[in-house]
Amino acid sequence: MNAPCKFQPVRTTCPYCGVGCGVLARPDGHGGTQIEGDPNHPANFGRLCSKGSALGETLSFEGRLLHPQVRDDDGELRQASWAEALNRVATGFREIAAQHGPDAVAFYVSGQLLTEDYYVANKLMKGFIGSANIDTNSRLCMASSVAGHKRAFGADTVPGCYEDLDEADLLVLVGSNAAWCHPVLYQRMMRNKAQRGARMVVIDPRRTPTADEADLVVQIAPGTDSVLFSGLLAHLADRDALDRQFIGASTQGFSETLARARHIAPDVDAVARACCVARDDVATLYDWFCATPKAVTLFSQGVNQSAQGTDKVNAIINCHLATGRIGRPGMGPFSLTGQPNAMGGREVGGLANQLAAHMGFQPDSIDRVRRFWNAPAMAQGEGLKAVDLFDAVAAGRIRALWVMATNPAVSLPRADAARAALGKLDLFVVSEVVASTDTSSARPHVLLPAAAWGEKDGTVTNSERRISRQRSFLEPPGEARPDWWIVAQVGKRMGFEKAFDYRFPADIFREHAALSAFENDDTRDFDLSRLCNIEPGDYETLAPVQWPVRMHTRSDRLFSDGRFYTPDGRARFVPVVPPKSAARPDQPHPFILNTGRVRDHWHTMTRTGRSARLSAHIDEPFVAMHPDDAAAAGVGEGELATVSSVHGSAVLRVRCSEGQRRGEVFAPIHWNGQTASQGRVGALVHPICDPISGQPDMKATAVAVAPARYAAYGFLLSAETVALPADMYWARSTIAGGKAVRFAVNAAPQEWAAVARGLMGEGGAIVDFEDRTQQAYRAARIAGGRLKACVYVAAGPGLLPAWDWLKQQIAAPGIEAEARKAVLA
Ligand code: SF4
Repeated sequence: MNAPCKFQPVRTTCPYCGVGCGVLARPDGHGGTQIEGDPNHPANFGRLCSKGSALGETLSFEGRLLHPQVRDDDGELRQASWAEALNRVATGFREIAAQHGPDAVAFYVSGQLLTEDYYVANKLMKGFIGSANIDTNSRLCMASSVAGHKRAFGADTVPGCYEDLDEADLLVLVGSNAAWCHPVLYQRMMRNKAQRGARMVVIDPRRTPTADEADLVVQIAPGTDSVLFSGLLAHLADRDALDRQFIGASTQGFSETLARARHIAPDVDAVARACCVARDDVATLYDWFCATPKAVTLFSQGVNQSAQGTDKVNAIINCHLATGRIGRPGMGPFSLTGQPNAMGGREVGGLANQLAAHMGFQPDSIDRVRRFWNAPAMAQGEGLKAVDLFDAVAAGRIRALWVMATNPAVSLPRADAARAALGKLDLFVVSEVVASTDTSSARPHVLLPAAAWGEKDGTVTNSERRISRQRSFLEPPGEARPDWWIVAQVGKRMGFEKAFDYRFPADIFREHAALSAFENDDTRDFDLSRLCNIEPGDYETLAPVQWPVRMHTRSDRLFSDGRFYTPDGRARFVPVVPPKSAARPDQPHPFILNTGRVRDHWHTMTRTGRSARLSAHIDEPFVAMHPDDAAAAGVGEGELATVSSVHGSAVLRVRCSEGQRRGEVFAPIHWNGQTASQGRVGALVHPICDPISGQPDMKATAVAVAPARYAAYGFLLSAETVALPADMYWARSTIAGGKAVRFAVNAAPQEWAAVARGLMGEGGAIVDFEDRTQQAYRAARIAGGRLKACVYVAAGPGLLPAWDWLKQQIAAPGIEAEARKAVLA
């Protein structure tokens, strides 16, 4: 690994969302790293959002997994050498596959992996172990877009690029809170709006920050997107706004699809009724779309994470095919990927229903990949998708599982059941960056320390198919190693020495590019043929590049010639089925739970949770609900509520919002067992999946909301991370110089001092103050001239004071006499 000279900026790529912003990382030589946007990267031209800007604050080695660990027969984990740990994994997978068949083993991987990591893992499972049981957390993110693209285009092709967002005159965002989840792209769209007057329409059941600047907000009922876009297709036909030449020359299936659309959505009034929105809003959207050739429709998790996600994607694509608005500047359907390398995972075959290099499990593709890899045991059919895969673990059909760079015990639907299933495995392996996650705490047999962002080298692909380098600028701590190295070592120890004899990521990238080009006579979209022989030095300096990167370019822009990747070269209109709501709120569970992200956190917070700046935006898990619903449920703003489904429950802070439709609540997905006592929202989510893509519907679980009342409410500010009791509500966040904890506990006023002392840790002097008339208690621990901890307790959640000044005292190197008095004031 080449550590750069200090002060030398290293060009790399942000590890968070699918925008894929270029980053300049400049280690300062004292353990810190300055982060700036890369002005030359075409995804962001120097801009970064709050998460990207705070990357430098997330690089500490605190809490890192530093050494391999194995569990002995006595049940205890102990440190082991790499050789012992790798041998245990290789032997375990080989023996279990031999005894129970290759489908008894599985990998569950991640859109956080680099393409090179992903490629090696996919090759080992599908070519050498002989199963396709490798699926990825990207299944939760964009599998419906993959399936929709393949149905329409014959390949998983995102046709557009970010420049289209600069040139469009109409930007339609569907199920996307881009202002928070793809902020740099959202700002790019806002510049188009400001400078060129582009219109923006936001279609979402929730009124999110993305709607704030929109020209039209269509707040549809959950799950009705395909009615809205079926109605649009019918409207385009009625208004003679179709591109009949394109439909005739480049597509199939228009008549049946239009007939189905008319059946689902006969007119504007019917659409307005089905979607529960104003007729004028529907009519305005349709008129604008009809009248604006340069229209881009962007969609994200609100479309994908649905029991009808694939149909929703095709309902959108149908409208673009009908108007010929595809393959030309400033127009097209545009899937925004959630993860930094969801697209790279799709390229290598990281999904269980893809083989590799955008090939599926057709006999000729299986044979082609077998010959290319010289593979002894090619998988012959699709493997298990994420939810089914964990069901198979629970049922004992999968006996060995390797989880890499993801936290399914938090993020999967029915997460409690997923976590419990892990305990049934004969061999459970976790590759992780941090020592303690909900998944790595589920008693793995082997823990493998992985290198983190900034320490590893490879490539990622963003939402516009642009491959960028992630480059290392830090040495990995302890014995952490890149994921590709770990998997390749296991492959070698399983007996596949030659096939996994990679020395550097560039070796893997060359092979990946060569597979994309192998027997690819312009018949497959994913083609990196010009990079097949890339020299190590050129790989090192590789500038961001959009695929295809062909030897012979068919055309400048995908689909500009009206040819697609179906056998006859024509795109397919897809008749969608009439939607039905996945959730059926009944009396015990009268609300529909929508899940999603907040602006400043990422996934399960293993990185963003380290930044005080990012943690300050929203420091506690919450449920957003309409004020009238909150009142009906007996909860108020700032109170705690138990949100429960038939699968699990969480205790969340209530945030009342007029932006929520009645009957629907929203909760973010980020909190986990380390950051909240009962904040794992995945535990509530039902396991219903789209039947085509297998993507879980994470937006429509029937839940109940009830008050969660405690006798006392308080907060703790502490310079140290303290263990928190299981019998209280708590949510922990990072602050400058320590941690902040909000808590609630069933303790009478005379017990509050004992509660406080139990939270504040040991050492130094404790001062406290009790105000019986106000039912308030305060205590502080001062040691070495510093405020080490303070606790405030009150009888109600609204009776606690603001904590900003106290946070500053925790961060300060010392506390003055006046400030000591004020701490309890
Ligand atoms: Fe990173 Fe996405 Fe923010 Fe860009 S927009 S800085 S890729 S999180």
